[in-house]
Amino acid sequence: MTTTSTTVPRIPFPDLAARIDGALILPTDDEFPHAAQAWNLAVPQRPRAVLHARTAADVVHAVRFAIEHRLPVTAQPGGHGATTALDEALLIRTSALDDIWIDADARVARVGAGVKWGQLQSALDGTGLTGMLGSSPDVTVVGFCLSGGLSWFGRAHGTGAASLRAVELVDAAGTHRWVDDSTDASLMWALRGGGGEFGIVTAVEIALVPAPELAGGRLLFPVEDAPRVWRAFAEVTTVAPRELTLFASVLHFPPIPELPEEIRGRSFCAVDAVLLGGTAALEALLRPIAGAGTVLRSTIGPLRPSTIGDVCEEPVDPSPALTGSGSLVSLDDEVLTALLDRVSDPACGLMQAQVRHLGGAFRDDPARPAACGRVEAEYMAMMLAMAPVPEAIEPAQAAIDAALDILKPWHGGPLPLSMLGHHDGADIAFAPDTLRRLRDVKESTDPRCVVRGNFPVHGSPAIR
Ligand SMILES: Cc1cc2nc3c(=O)[nH]c(=O)nc-3n(C[C@H](O)[C@H](O)[C@H](O)COP(=O)(O)OP(=O)(O)OC[C@H]3O[C@@H](n4cnc5c(N)ncnc54)[C@H](O)[C@@H]3O)c2cc1C
Repeated sequence: MTTTSTTVPRIPFPDLAARIDGALILPTDDEFPHAAQAWNLAVPQRPRAVLHARTAADVVHAVRFAIEHRLPVTAQPGGHGATTALDEALLIRTSALDDIWIDADARVARVGAGVKWGQLQSALDGTGLTGMLGSSPDVTVVGFCLSGGLSWFGRAHGTGAASLRAVELVDAAGTHRWVDDSTDASLMWALRGGGGEFGIVTAVEIALVPAPELAGGRLLFPVEDAPRVWRAFAEVTTVAPRELTLFASVLHFPPIPELPEEIRGRSFCAVDAVLLGGTAALEALLRPIAGAGTVLRSTIGPLRPSTIGDVCEEPVDPSPALTGSGSLVSLDDEVLTALLDRVSDPACGLMQAQVRHLGGAFRDDPARPAACGRVEAEYMAMMLAMAPVPEAIEPAQAAIDAALDILKPWHGGPLPLSMLGHHDGADIAFAPDTLRRLRDVKESTDPRCVVRGNFPVHGSPAIR
C-alpha cells in the first residue's frame, strides 16, 4: 500500500513494512484512526503512519527509513502526554517492548520502552523496593522519566528523570546505542527530563528506592469542607517529613450514567497520601486533616508497590482530558482562599483542581545530572477539565486558564515537561540557560530534527 499527497513527497512505506517484524498501519487502512488516536482523546493526531514495533530492530529500521526519506519520527507509547507536535511524523508505538529485568540487590530495574509503571510495580511486589512512579500506573516508565516525572517519592528521592541510570536508544543517525554518564554525559543529561527528541528509546535502566513499608490512600470529604481540609493540608505539609507526599483536590463529577451513583453529579474534596512508612504512622500524620471535616470514605491503609497506582483513582481508559499546571512558592491563606473561591463551584468548568506538595528532595541537587534539574516550587496546582466533544475544548481550556491565572503572583518557577498542558511549549518548563543547552544537544545530535518529541525544544520544526 502506498500513500500519495500533494504537499509531501511519496514515501515508499511498503519497503519499511517488508523490513519489520511488527505492523505498519497507513491512513488507507481501516484501523488507522484507532492506531493514530492518543490516550488523550481531546488531542487529535495526524501522523503519517503508525508502526507497532515488535523488537528494538524494528525501531532501528523505522529511524533509518525516516532519515532516508526525510520524515520526522516520534515515539508515543500511549499518548497521556499527547500534543500536536507529531503531526506528519512516523509514529512508533512501543507497547510490545515489554521486557522487565530487576536486580533487587543492586536496586536497579531495566525495562523496555513499552513498560507501564503498573507493570513494573507489580514485578516489584515483595522486593521491598519501589520505582519512582507518579499518580498514574498507566503511563510508561520511559515517557515519565524522559519528561521529568514528579513521583510520590520525589520529596524523598528527587525526580523520575534523575533515577535514570542509562538509556538504550536509536539515535538520529540510526545507530542503536547504550548511553550512560560515562559514554555520553551531555546526551544523558538531556534525556533526564529534556523530553523525547534525543533519540527513540528502546529500553532504560532506572534506580529503585527502598520501600520496606508503604501506606497510603484517599480521604474523601464533602466539598463544603474544602476550606478547612485544605487549610489543614497546608499546615500538615509545612511540617511533613520527606517520606510523606500529599495531594489535596476538589472534584466535580459530571452527571453521566457511566459514573457510579454515589459520585454521579456530585462534588467532593479529597486528600491523597502516600508514605514511605507504615499505616499507623500515616494515620497519625493525617489526623489534623481527617479531623478538619466529615470523612465520607477512607482508603488509607497498607500499600504494595503494585497498589500505589490505585491511590488517586485516576482513569486508565482513554479520556478527553485537558490539563494545565502552575507552580507555587507557598500555600498561604490568600492563595488558598482565592483558589477555592474559583474552583469549589461545579460551574467553574473543571472536573478537578489539585494541589500537590513538592519541596524536599525535589529541591536538592539531582542524584544524577538532569535537564529538569531542581524543582524549586513548594507546591504545584494541576487543573483538569473534560472536553468530550471538540466544541468543549475552548471552554475547558478557559476554565483551566482562569484557575491558573489566580496562582500567578505565587509562581514558584518551572515545572517539568510531564506537567505541561497539550498546548504549552517546552520554553515554560526550563530556565533560559537550560533551554539553550538542550537546543545545543539537539543541534549536535540531530541537526536535521529527525526525532520529534511532544514538546520540541525548538518549537515544532520541519525536518531539514
Ligand atoms: C492520569 C495522568 C496522571 C499523571 N500523573 C503524573 C504524575 O503524577 N507525575 C508526572 O510527572 N506526570 C504525570 N502525568 C504526565 C505523564 O507522566 C506524561 O504525560 C508522560 O510523558 C506520559 O508518558 P507516556 O509514555 O505514558 O505518554 P506518551 O504520551 O505516550 O509519551 C509522552 C512523550 O514521551 C516521549 N517518549 C515516550 N516514549 C518514548 C520513547 N520510547 N522514545 C523517545 N521518546 C519517548 C515522547 O516525546 C512522547 O511524546 C500524568 C498523566 C496522566 C494522563
